Amino acid sequence: SQIMSRGLPKQKPIEGVKQVIVVASGKGGVGKSTTAVNLALALAANELSKAVGLLDVDVYGPSIPKMMNLKGNPELSQSNLMRPLLNYGIACMSMGFLVEETAPLVWRGLMVMSAIEKLLRQVDWGQLDYLVVDMPPGTGDVQLSVSQNIPISGAVIVSTPQDIALMDAHRGAEMFRKVHVPVLGLVQNMSVFQCPKCKHKTHIFGADGARRLARTLDLDILGDIPLHLNIREASDTGQPIVFSQPESDESGEIQEPADPG
Ligand code: ADP
Repeated sequence: SQIMSRGLPKQKPIEGVKQVIVVASGKGGVGKSTTAVNLALALAANELSKAVGLLDVDVYGPSIPKMMNLKGNPELSQSNLMRPLLNYGIACMSMGFLVEETAPLVWRGLMVMSAIEKLLRQVDWGQLDYLVVDMPPGTGDVQLSVSQNIPISGAVIVSTPQDIALMDAHRGAEMFRKVHVPVLGLVQNMSVFQCPKCKHKTHIFGADGARRLARTLDLDILGDIPLHLNIREASDTGQPIVFSQPESDESGEIQEPADPG
């Protein structure tokens, strides 16, 4: 709060990047990275055809390399900037490319900040319409320093409908408001599970918690995503669902649950 009350330091745009969208969550494991990956793919897909990059600043648990089926070390450009790795037309950068896969990510505060600085300033993105940033969960130093160092067009907050996740999502939304980052809305994830055999629907984490929070905070619900085996498998095999099943609602596999109002 001391940092916040000092007011905003000067923000410097990332070279070549028009819009930065951060994807954040209060809690871990709610589907933030899954959302970031699929948002990036949807922006780059045919209908929109945007030039999109994906920056993983979740330095404690980088999951973008696995989700985007990428590994290896970035090459350096002539001006000594790191070249993003490319898959599915998305330029990606992650701490996961810079350390061994199983190396313990034990960071001291200052190391975290220099890692973030490197990821924000030493990447040659070329020209991007959108840079989607996968934030770490919570409202700590990393979230603050990212928000204060680069101009952010908007934040997407992901939550399950569960109270404990919502509480933290609420905190996240307040943090972005404090640092003057517009919150674009909430994504409610894992809201319903439909048994593939009997078609019975179960609201494992609750039904409409994120909708309630959206009303409380006067925010939009940007999406409502069921808990579905295909989504988990797609993530784990590095073939994100938007890429591998772009028209899945035709098959009846993934369907948006009806708006309960
Ligand atoms: P976070 O970034 O919030 O920690 P992830 O996006 O890594 O969360 O998701 C956590 C796990 O849950 C991953 O294994 C992912 O594949 C899975 N997952 C996320 N959303 C869904 C969903 N709607 N249905 C099924 N599995 C999901």
